[in-house]
Amino acid sequence: MITAILRNLPSRCQLCHQRLNDVLGPWCEVCRNSFPDSARCKQCGLKLVTDLSQCGECLNRPPDWDQLYCAADYDFPIDDLLHKFKYRGQFWLANPLSTLLADKVASPAPLLLPVPMHWLRRCRRGYNQSAVLTHYLAIKLDTNWRHDVLKRVRATPAQRGLKRSQRLSNLSSAFAVNTNIALPSHVALVDDVVTTGSTVNTLSRLLKQYGVKRVDVYCLCRTAKNRDL
Ligand SMILES: [Zn+2]
Ligand SMILES: [Zn+2]
Repeated sequence: MITAILRNLPSRCQLCHQRLNDVLGPWCEVCRNSFPDSARCKQCGLKLVTDLSQCGECLNRPPDWDQLYCAADYDFPIDDLLHKFKYRGQFWLANPLSTLLADKVASPAPLLLPVPMHWLRRCRRGYNQSAVLTHYLAIKLDTNWRHDVLKRVRATPAQRGLKRSQRLSNLSSAFAVNTNIALPSHVALVDDVVTTGSTVNTLSRLLKQYGVKRVDVYCLCRTAKNRDL
């Protein structure tokens, strides 16, 4: 395992291919400092011209979560790194990617919960990428995480390409909360990418039904598409 991880560590920047002195990160300092940073709506995370606590859409129809923190849009270079992490088994990327996200979170929730994956999909992929991210994120934010609070009780087909009504009925009753575990009043859901927000919204609503007062969302990337809760 250790040998495999060491063998996978890049000796060159994954973006500009310069030789790296610091082998712990996949990019050089110049590339790291050129990652795009945008003003956002603090609640839904979508890009704005200036930082706002709520955009017009959130004022009209707020999501069930309270604040969303993301490292970047789903765009170069993060999209490329995320693809390698998710689909090519380069799970060591979770460490540097989680650093990008940890830098954005000022007051971490006392408990982080990864968005659960159905066991069948986890078996196929070998790991739940959200749980791997949550593990590193919890270390960096000096907080706790648990993988056994939220459960995906029904496999849901991929959400992409479905109509809003189909997506919502697909999601309702797909998740369950483990009621044997006492939850703090503030938790954060962790996912790699938030697109329409319907999965994290369903989970936020569910957690609030179980008495959680504040649910934040920590995600690596927020896609710039219109939301569709
Ligand atoms: Zn570079
Ligand atoms: Zn908003």
